[in-house]
Amino acid sequence: MGRFQVVGATVVDGSGRDPADVAVTVEDGRITALGAAGTNGERLDAGGLTMTPGLIDAHVHLGLSSPIQPQFSFQISAAEIAADIFATAGATLDAGFTTVRDTGGIDGGVVTAIAKGKVRGPRVVSCGPVQCQTGGHGYYGAEWEPTELWSSHHVPGLCALSMMAGNADELRRNVREAFRRGASFLKLCVTGGVVGGKDRLTDTQFTVEEIAVAVQEAAARGTYVTVHAHNNGGIRNAVEAGARCVEHGTDLDEPTAALMAAHGVALVPTFAVLDRLLHDPAAAGLGDSVRERVAGVRERMARALAAAKDAGVRIGLGSDLIGPDQDRRGVELTLRAQLETPMDALVAATKTNAEIIGLPEVGVIAPGMRADLVLWNGNPLEDPTLFSDPANAVTVVQSGRVVKDLR
Ligand SMILES: [Zn+2]
Repeated sequence: MGRFQVVGATVVDGSGRDPADVAVTVEDGRITALGAAGTNGERLDAGGLTMTPGLIDAHVHLGLSSPIQPQFSFQISAAEIAADIFATAGATLDAGFTTVRDTGGIDGGVVTAIAKGKVRGPRVVSCGPVQCQTGGHGYYGAEWEPTELWSSHHVPGLCALSMMAGNADELRRNVREAFRRGASFLKLCVTGGVVGGKDRLTDTQFTVEEIAVAVQEAAARGTYVTVHAHNNGGIRNAVEAGARCVEHGTDLDEPTAALMAAHGVALVPTFAVLDRLLHDPAAAGLGDSVRERVAGVRERMARALAAAKDAGVRIGLGSDLIGPDQDRRGVELTLRAQLETPMDALVAATKTNAEIIGLPEVGVIAPGMRADLVLWNGNPLEDPTLFSDPANAVTVVQSGRVVKDLR
């Protein structure tokens, strides 16, 4: 892998510190020094470019890379699903994301194929299938279909939308099965969802006792539970049961935000998907009816973000993009920059996301860290719309390997 030095870039290290003009030395996949440019060794000239850590998306669905409605009704072949997943993985890297946390839909084989370098893609940590209750969010079977047939729609090694449990014992069996198939954390749906059939955003799903079973199984393996949750009842159930992270958090109010902060529970808001579903549901392969379900959610989620911030909750960043067009993942940073500051958005997508997903070696440009780096065409702190267009991620380095270079 060797040694090289990136020289000439303005470095924004991901920690929130002010940018600095320093050379970054990379050896055997890691950052070994920040400082003055040396006189010998291989140089990567980054004059005029801005360097950030490789971005992290803490809420992705690589497994939902095909048009959603046909995929959810099982009309797409395994070959096409695989082709779409791998295209999304490559596009994710090209957009400057070197790490993602998959919050439901792939099976372990996808993680392995990317990790082995057989397919271009980011580092992936995955929960495998989503854990849902009978008929809850994450279940897309037909009404006439017996529930026990649901998991027969999984394509082993490739994709698995969800595992359905009718009680605590079934949930325990399902999460153990998810771990067997490669999950490194768990995700439970504890409220209804936006892209759903029969449930409502105001529903709570799973009981505190049931969620606690998943927390116990996760803790036994040294990992954690995150929950899909839009309403406060579901969030409170999850916090009480010991979950470590909440996805979406649309209607989070001040008392519940304070409860999350007191228990050290993180929040991952997801704006990009709402933007997409409001403006162009057909692009994701969904009908216009989803617009009704998503109306007002973005404004409420913006208020939830503010409440979480005021309460001191640790706040990550996730795009939650679904469907075929997942190449503009950086839209999430652009949207967050409008609600906070560009620096806040960047830190959420790097240092904070690394903490939330439990990868201490990524997310910050510092000696000893993995050399995951992006060179941007311009300064995204001055113009955060740069994050939205993959063409601006001029050079992408993952573990010291240049995986994209348009210089
Ligand atoms: Zn999601």
